[in-house]
Amino acid sequence: MILIYKSLGLGATKAKPILQQVAITWTGLHFGGQRPWFICRGCGRRAAVLYTTGGLFECRRCQGLVYATQQEAPYYRNLTAAQKIRARLGGSLSTFDEFPDKPKRMHRRTYLRLRARGERVEAACMALTKRWLSRTGKLRRARVR
Ligand SMILES: [Zn+2]
Repeated sequence: MILIYKSLGLGATKAKPILQQVAITWTGLHFGGQRPWFICRGCGRRAAVLYTTGGLFECRRCQGLVYATQQEAPYYRNLTAAQKIRARLGGSLSTFDEFPDKPKRMHRRTYLRLRARGERVEAACMALTKRWLSRTGKLRRARVR
């Protein structure tokens, strides 16, 4: 099978046509019949879907795209840490809101320590979201039927 598409490479301003030859393999189905698979050029494994983020199409693993849950784990770990700190300061739990002010009865030093940690985990959330968006924004799929 040949995939023909246009790609805007990194830093390129004009899309150039790319012709990628992809091998197909067939496996037998339990109740008869056969189904096709792509052979990934990167690892040689079978794949039902190939992905690209700008270059050639490869399997999910070779394109460095992990499953949503694997990506979400560090995000939620940071988000939970951020919300715990916000709750302790008696402020809004939403990381889109301003960081809470110092509660009246809290020592300044304690507040500054919590604030430093809070801002660090919130920045980590933001960075993970950005990375996810930049990957999925460029993502294209090819599906074998
Ligand atoms: Zn692969």
